[in-house]
Amino acid sequence: MATADVPGTVALDSVDDFTDEVDVLVVGCGIGGGCAAVEAAAAGARVLVLERAADAGGTTCMAGGHFYLGGGTAVQKATGHEDSAEEMEKYITAVSREPEPDKIHAYCQDSVEHFDWLEALGFEFERSFYPEKAVIQPQTQGLMFTGNEKVWPFKDIAKPAPRGHKVPVPGDTGGAAMVIGLLVDRIAELGGEIRYETGARQLVVDDAGHVVGATWKSLDGAGAIRARSVVIAAGGFVMNEEMVAAHVPQMSEKPFVLGNTYDDGLGIRLGQSVGAALKHMDQAFVTAPVYPPSILLTGIAVNKNGERFVAEDSYHSRTSGFVMDQPDAAAFLIVDEAHMERPEFPLVPFIDGWETVAEMETDLGIPAGNLQRTLNRYNENAAHGEDPDFHKSVEYLAPQSNGPWAAFDMSLGKAMYAGFTIGGMATSVDGQVLDESGAPIDGLYAAGACAANLAQDGKGYASGTQLGEGSYFGRRAGRHAARHATAGAAAAS
Ligand SMILES: Cc1cc2nc3c(=O)[nH]c(=O)nc-3n(C[C@H](O)[C@H](O)[C@H](O)COP(=O)(O)OP(=O)(O)OC[C@H]3O[C@@H](n4cnc5c(N)ncnc54)[C@H](O)[C@@H]3O)c2cc1C
Repeated sequence: MATADVPGTVALDSVDDFTDEVDVLVVGCGIGGGCAAVEAAAAGARVLVLERAADAGGTTCMAGGHFYLGGGTAVQKATGHEDSAEEMEKYITAVSREPEPDKIHAYCQDSVEHFDWLEALGFEFERSFYPEKAVIQPQTQGLMFTGNEKVWPFKDIAKPAPRGHKVPVPGDTGGAAMVIGLLVDRIAELGGEIRYETGARQLVVDDAGHVVGATWKSLDGAGAIRARSVVIAAGGFVMNEEMVAAHVPQMSEKPFVLGNTYDDGLGIRLGQSVGAALKHMDQAFVTAPVYPPSILLTGIAVNKNGERFVAEDSYHSRTSGFVMDQPDAAAFLIVDEAHMERPEFPLVPFIDGWETVAEMETDLGIPAGNLQRTLNRYNENAAHGEDPDFHKSVEYLAPQSNGPWAAFDMSLGKAMYAGFTIGGMATSVDGQVLDESGAPIDGLYAAGACAANLAQDGKGYASGTQLGEGSYFGRRAGRHAARHATAGAAAAS
């Protein structure tokens, strides 16, 4: 079982023999590593990718395939959705816990170019829009709203536009594997090598503290690789119980973890071994969506005191994030008979129905009168198309006045919460790993889930930001790593 131990480094002087000498060594071949390798090889670098598994793709191959892209992509244009880099930037800044302006600016300004680059790998996002409120498009529709763009306060800060671009593969999971296949082909075309069943173990460091390679181990042997730049793209840490307990205790027991076996945080710990600063390590994407059906969002979500705490039409992981903040992480979704519909996948279980609100309060353990008071206020305002408390959109405002009333259990431990970790190494806009002082660690880069970029917590998360940032900042890391290698080679000659 993986521990939270930070591996030691290996001194350059102590290595007698290197098995390989390359310009750019990439650790891990998911979306982050794959994109870094393609761009580094395209820049002319000799690229070697170490992949611990027998195949490429890691957690990326489990992903449904949302990429968060905007600013006027071909799909947005074809489906009549106006967007600009500026509106996208305002939105991402507003949902970020600690906005990193240079990264957000670059990501938004380059989003259309990045969309085109992804398609040039050899696929096309379908030029179609899925208008429903859902977790993911059910078929191959190319675009939908996947964040809080239409949710207050964000709808008042930036003009809402749908930005969740899904790869043209039907189904909730596995779609992004198609992109991995294309990246693997492109790496080979560009002369890069992927070495499977070979895991990076420790970083090799010279006297000046520069990262100059990594040791590896496979079933057949072990050795060390000399590299001018090393890009760590080895995924997150959701599968490392010790790290999860230390950093994200709310995830350590009840939610299901989403990830692959090798999401054991080794990449992050390799970074720590040379002084990498870590960010957002206590944050997670944890969710148990109450929709579809979206009609349930006309109801109210209350905590065990019978108080509302979130706009119910929020993106599901935003709502879930607020559930985690409630007393005992307990919450209920209440609807009346006219708005009751059973979900096809009941991740949030139906508890019961009651003829009176007073009976429901008693059975749910809510102090007498509190739920009735909350319902009265909500119903009164909803009848006028208003929600002064949480500003829910008019399309999800409907009085819940006529019993019987139903309750669904959104509480942690009752609803089927699932999630992954979000924190990772601090990086520059070019993927350089930063130390505690904010200075780059020479020779070291990070991309994908082991780096902290745009997705900073579940409340601001939009589906597609992980694949979006992993691919975009992976590309930037690959390009910078190749430049760093060229500069190193020139200095040495
Ligand atoms: C079910 C599910 C659905 C999701 N859907 C979406 C979605 O639609 N959109 C979105 O944006 N995000 C989604 N996510 C999140 C997203 O998939 C991940 O955050 C992202 O794929 C991580 O990419 P990565 O390259 O960092 O890691 P990975 O894809 O896991 O790649 C890391 C690779 O590194 C390898 N590795 C690990 N350690 C070593 C080592 N020491 N040496 C060599 N290799 C090593 C691993 O084997 C792996 O192949 C989803 C996640 C899940 C679980």
